[in-house]
Amino acid sequence: KLKISINKNKRFQFRIGNKTIGKEFILISGPCSVESKNMIVSFSKELKKVGIDALRGGAYKPCTFPIKKSVNGWKEGLKKKGLEYLLNAKEKSGLPIVSEVMDVRHLDFSLPYIDVIQIGTRNFQNYTLLDALGKVDKPVLLKRGTWGTIDEILGSAERILIGGNEKVIICLRGVVGMPSYRHIFPSIRWAPDLMMIPALKKFTNIPIIYDPSHSTGHRDFVVPISKAAMAAGADGLIVECHPDPPNSISDADQAITIETLEEIIRFVKSFSS
Ligand code: PEP
Ligand code: MN
Repeated sequence: KLKISINKNKRFQFRIGNKTIGKEFILISGPCSVESKNMIVSFSKELKKVGIDALRGGAYKPCTFPIKKSVNGWKEGLKKKGLEYLLNAKEKSGLPIVSEVMDVRHLDFSLPYIDVIQIGTRNFQNYTLLDALGKVDKPVLLKRGTWGTIDEILGSAERILIGGNEKVIICLRGVVGMPSYRHIFPSIRWAPDLMMIPALKKFTNIPIIYDPSHSTGHRDFVVPISKAAMAAGADGLIVECHPDPPNSISDADQAITIETLEEIIRFVKSFSS
């Protein structure tokens, strides 16, 4: 039995840029990583033009293996410089910024740069971080741990809520399982977790957004899984998009072009009308 105390009938709705999440469909997009000032600023303007609602970009990147050498200043992210470049992109594009905070010690100095605080799958049960987020007056995009059960997802969300921050978004991003794809598609590490969308909606009205990029791990599957997530009732999508996908500094195999993103945007429009 779930011990969750989140009020099932409560509607969680709050502003992200020009949209009200929980009421209007939200499309977040951008590169996996902030790679340079020029890249994120110019790309943010293109993304704004095609009609996304918020810009994603990692400044602090949780890489599976520790990276020893930096490439043009990028070593598991551009870190503080990356946050500054995101702020430049926000000034030029007008898009709100979604970016990951990996460590509670980075929270205070990151806040002025970020509009939606992304908590990555690896920190999904980092209770020190979740408790600190409860004291913040900004939306938190909580990614499901790759192992997270439904009670663990709701428990982590509740931890932020009881701290006093009711601006929580749950993000599903694929889970462990189905290694059978890897022989043909080596970048596929996770299995899409679409059924968790309606399952969570039985217990809460916290907005649920879907990440078709990490859950599929391969660009060929991003469009169909985006559509499936919408059909399953997702309140939004967070999609990795890059000006030159194969040369993306991180998660290159799952990055899509802006033209492919426009295919998703057309579907969002036809789906919601
Ligand atoms: C990301 O969004 O780039 C990311 C690292 O996601 P996750 O924490 O889901 O792996
Ligand atoms: Mn990524």
